[in-house]
Amino acid sequence: MIELNSAEIRFALKAARQAALLVKDIQTEMVSGSLTKGDKSPVTIADFASQALISHLLQSTFPNDPLVAEEDSSALQIPENYQTLAAITKFVKTRIKNANSESISKWIDYGNSKPTNRFWTLDPIDGTKGFLRGEQYAVAFALIIQGRVDIGVLACPNLADGRTQNIGGPGSLIVAQRGQGAWTTDLFGSMQFSQLHVSEITEPTQTRFLRSFEAGHTNVSQLDLIGQAMGVTVEPVRLDSQAKYSILAAGAGDALFRLISEKAPNYREKIWDQAAGSIICEEAGGKITDLDGNLLDFTQGRTLSKNRGVLATNGFLHNAALEAIKSVGA
Ligand code: AMP
Ligand code: MG
Repeated sequence: MIELNSAEIRFALKAARQAALLVKDIQTEMVSGSLTKGDKSPVTIADFASQALISHLLQSTFPNDPLVAEEDSSALQIPENYQTLAAITKFVKTRIKNANSESISKWIDYGNSKPTNRFWTLDPIDGTKGFLRGEQYAVAFALIIQGRVDIGVLACPNLADGRTQNIGGPGSLIVAQRGQGAWTTDLFGSMQFSQLHVSEITEPTQTRFLRSFEAGHTNVSQLDLIGQAMGVTVEPVRLDSQAKYSILAAGAGDALFRLISEKAPNYREKIWDQAAGSIICEEAGGKITDLDGNLLDFTQGRTLSKNRGVLATNGFLHNAALEAIKSVGA
């Protein structure tokens, strides 16, 4: 059974779970239309609220640990956005009574910390397009020690058992710590964990690709060519966010490619988009590298600047996928 007795792992689970529950509340309330017109989209409010809450929890629990997170509050400090900040404050106060717009802005901006030997990285809502569609998104939180991911947590409100898309279901909390395996439980707080294992598929033609909905985040035509090079005959699984890594870890999908999109040839992956997912993949028995087969290098600050794209597989299919990537020049 997973060792939950490290303070870090208990904290990571609690923080990601609380943020996901807050985000869910925001989505429910805003979709029901109780906020006035002129408020920003629910995703903006939920994104900032999630980062503020986790940052506050981190500073209270591990005050010396830096946070490297996606958002910063500068856009909220201009008059047009005061109403947005007020809405964020209203929601964060449901969890932290004495929060105000000033303290919340400070918590958000703690996400600009410089990465050190030991730091946390956060995507407060990964898969914002999925969130807006009411589909898949994740709170993605990870601890990086000496350039290596040590703990990763994904909180996925619309995923069941870490493997099935289930809108409005029990949700999934997925956690991995280096050397301890990958585990999942629901978002209700039952804390009954079951272990995740990647699939045992070895035949390239049977590879279930885990694909994004957003064409701009990859190179769709190259991805199709890779499928042809591998002779793939099975349907892909499509969803937004790092929830893809959970499905890979649970054995319900086999390969995830982040190719370089034609529109952004110099794009480098953000660490918060890969840290939690990468350790969950590895601890479930899978493999993750960049498109050239190099290990992901988390020592380079806010991006994986030394890596080009990402390939994550169940391990068995990794070489075949790398060969296919090479053969199409991706
Ligand atoms: P997905 O849910 O798979 O579509 O991926 C969502 C993530 O893609 C977001 O968290 C973005 O940070 C990231 N992203 C944005 N632009 C790009 C890009 N040009 N290439 C790869 N990923 C991107
Ligand atoms: Mg993201």
